[in-house]
Amino acid sequence: MAAARKALLEERSRLRDELAIAIEAPGQMTYGSQAAAATHVFEQQRDLALRGRSENQLALVEAALARIDDGRFGACVRCGQPVAPERLEALPWAEHCIDCARLRSGSRG
Ligand SMILES: [Zn+2]
Repeated sequence: MAAARKALLEERSRLRDELAIAIEAPGQMTYGSQAAAATHVFEQQRDLALRGRSENQLALVEAALARIDDGRFGACVRCGQPVAPERLEALPWAEHCIDCARLRSGSRG
């Protein structure tokens, strides 16, 4: 549990750093060509996608830390069964046991 908490705290600060960097605006740039502008748009969209992923991940990490605090850490949020320790070691923010995770990914793609 202490190890999971440490891993979660590290992951949280890493994600916060990542998001803080992503917030920085590129500034006023002028583009010499449409191609350069198009590349920039592409990069912005890619950054937004990455940012969305980091935000989701941060939410998972914070939820896991909250579960540690109220003693529900390690139990699947769907079925209440214990999440396998090796799964928690690999993914300390995992909310679901492997069975529920499979069901979810099966139904949501
Ligand atoms: Zn479950």
